[in-house]
Amino acid sequence: MAEKPAEWNSAIDTTRPSIARAYDVVLRGKDNFEVDRAFVAEIAKVIPEIYDVATYNRQMLGRGVRFLIDQGITQFLDLGSGLPTVENTHQVAQRANPESRVVYVDNDPMVLAHGRALLAENERTAVVTSDLRDPAAILGDEAVKRLIDRGRPVGVMLVGILHHLHDDEDPRGIVEAYMAAVPSGSYLFITHFCASSQESRDAEKKYLALLGTGRFRTVAEITSFFHGFELVEPGVVPLPLWRPEAAVPEELTVGQRLMFGGIARKP
Ligand code: SAM
Repeated sequence: MAEKPAEWNSAIDTTRPSIARAYDVVLRGKDNFEVDRAFVAEIAKVIPEIYDVATYNRQMLGRGVRFLIDQGITQFLDLGSGLPTVENTHQVAQRANPESRVVYVDNDPMVLAHGRALLAENERTAVVTSDLRDPAAILGDEAVKRLIDRGRPVGVMLVGILHHLHDDEDPRGIVEAYMAAVPSGSYLFITHFCASSQESRDAEKKYLALLGTGRFRTVAEITSFFHGFELVEPGVVPLPLWRPEAAVPEELTVGQRLMFGGIARKP
């Protein structure tokens, strides 16, 4: 994509990389600019497998949503949902159960522009352009109130996003605020960058310097987000090891260990 179409919201800043568009680059999408591709090229110098890491994350998202459907979850709050790509949450969920409801939340204006086009004809799905660091605002949003019945269990998804919150933004408090607002039997689904190798520590430096966010937390720190909830098997593990649907190699590569994830039930 060479230029920003004139009709787009002027909020779209093409002079610096955005999280959503950089992720689109690693997913080999077309909704990105030169500045985003240059950022990913820098990361690829440290983690050449970065493109595969995005694929592991999307595959985990699909497996996780199918698992939640199997547990009877029919409503999903997908926080930091990203630009529409293949196998989005509503597609995976509504294929399994057409009654599933999904609210996507993202603060990137391009997500709204593309999300509206993709989701225009689906009355059980909505896109909210808002900052997930304000749980009260998200939970009070009209679309959230219309589609999510907080009297019934909810799948709260923070997939590939908590590492973009700094420690002083209280990511754990934000998780707790969302989980406090949903009933027993709800689920928390997280994937997260992990400090699992020297390469991951080098990548963190580049993320923070060039993108401004990207905390590679330890397994213990990631696990602490699930405090108070019942982690389902196999716990917090490298993404390819979470309920794999295909054979996994005995020894994982740096890229396969770059993100960890898990799902837990609210008792
Ligand atoms: N959840 C999707 C997945 O895992 O495939 C997309 C992950 S993408 C790496 C993270 C998304 O979170 C981006 O689209 C970005 O715009 C969004 N995001 C970052 N900070 C946010 C915030 N404070 N509030 C809402 N969305 C945010």
